Amino acid sequence: MALIVQKYGGSSVGNLDRIHHVAQKILQTKQQGHDVVVVVSAMYGETDRLIQLANALTHYPDPREFDVLISTGEQVSMALLSMALNAKQCPARSFTGSQIGIHTDTIHTKARIQKVNTDIIERELKQGRIVIIAGFQGVNEYGDITTLGRGGSDTTAVAIAAAIKAHECQIYTDVDGVYTTDPHLIPEARLLPQISFEEMLEMASLGAKVLQMRSVELASKHNMPIRVLSTFSDGQGTLVTFEDKIMHKLPVSGIAFSREEAVISLSGIPRQLGTEGRILAKVSQAHIEIDMIAQNMTAQNTVDFTFTVHRREYPKALKIIEELAKELGAVSVKTNPKVAKLSLVGIGMRSHTGVASTMFQSLGDAGVNIQMITTSEIKISVVVDEAHLEQGVRAVHQAFELDKIPMETQQLYIE
Ligand code: ADP
Ligand code: ASP
Ligand code: MG
Repeated sequence: MALIVQKYGGSSVGNLDRIHHVAQKILQTKQQGHDVVVVVSAMYGETDRLIQLANALTHYPDPREFDVLISTGEQVSMALLSMALNAKQCPARSFTGSQIGIHTDTIHTKARIQKVNTDIIERELKQGRIVIIAGFQGVNEYGDITTLGRGGSDTTAVAIAAAIKAHECQIYTDVDGVYTTDPHLIPEARLLPQISFEEMLEMASLGAKVLQMRSVELASKHNMPIRVLSTFSDGQGTLVTFEDKIMHKLPVSGIAFSREEAVISLSGIPRQLGTEGRILAKVSQAHIEIDMIAQNMTAQNTVDFTFTVHRREYPKALKIIEELAKELGAVSVKTNPKVAKLSLVGIGMRSHTGVASTMFQSLGDAGVNIQMITTSEIKISVVVDEAHLEQGVRAVHQAFELDKIPMETQQLYIE
């Protein structure tokens, strides 16, 4: 008998038929003799709908009220799922984050979980009931509802799994597991039987929304294995675990991408000590996060300073940079608000050379222009025109033969 946390995402509980199907899966797990704690997301599209409502009402919704509003989607799905289980004679009870005691800091819309109370969960399990908990939400020290950022139900599931010392945290979604890249963009993408926490963290932070980044951080901190599985088909899914448990380290594991980027470039800035610091200080004072930075000298002994921001921040960042351009005596401000970031991730990059050259060559051969580059130990990211993103992902996927099962990992697929 094991203690298992199962999380079902928005598309898994998207309508009543699906809720019945999820209830059936939970019942099966229970009938196998396991204790089950379930975390649910809002029904598909519901959180977006609530956000649109708030934004239609006011440009600056009060953050406390905004969290009260957008946390309601999960309360609907948890109750429906509990009703479906009870109707199948499987005793279940649903709880909000606040009822359970998922304590967070006070930062509305991106709160961090600080502590999880396990009393109610333990009491309910002892009574033989399935415990269903609303994902994505918690309560702060003032008793106000907080939310954990988009995709935050993954983090709720991992936090609960760690607190109750579950054997495994299973994340059920609409794809079979973690793939070499988003299978909705590249159908040839291959399911990965295993991936390291470190690689998954990079993939998630670089745009692969299959797991929220904080859930991976938390799982690695608490040594909690995550298994990503499909709600709609059987299979072993993907195990996210420690690097030393990965049987074969390939040079490259996957490609992540994000379409939500924008580039701003200050050109022809007369050289002056401290210019970079001044630019960054102004942008960060406005709470805008800069992602990539590139700087080059021109033949005229001036400097071109280029950076990327999330597209949502672009208008605000542009306004600041236009003002700064005058102060610094820059020649012009150039922008491209429609770029994307494509990133190649793999722990094997540490020991394999030539990964960057293969990547850049494949992009060049596919006619994809690279606008910026950054690298770290296990990733290479490039900025490309958004219109060329799909072409670029496909070219890099093919160049590294990510669609083919590598010889040395074949037995993992048979198991
Ligand atoms: P849920 O509602 O179940 O939380 P999400 O939409 O948040 O589901 O995450 C699952 C989606 O993540 C998939 O439908 C897929 O389009 C996307 N995705 C992006 N990159 C990957 C990847 N490398 N592997 C699997 N899915 C990915
Ligand atoms: N419902 C929330 C969202 O759409 C949380 C989640 O689905 O994980 O972001
Ligand atoms: Mg999600």
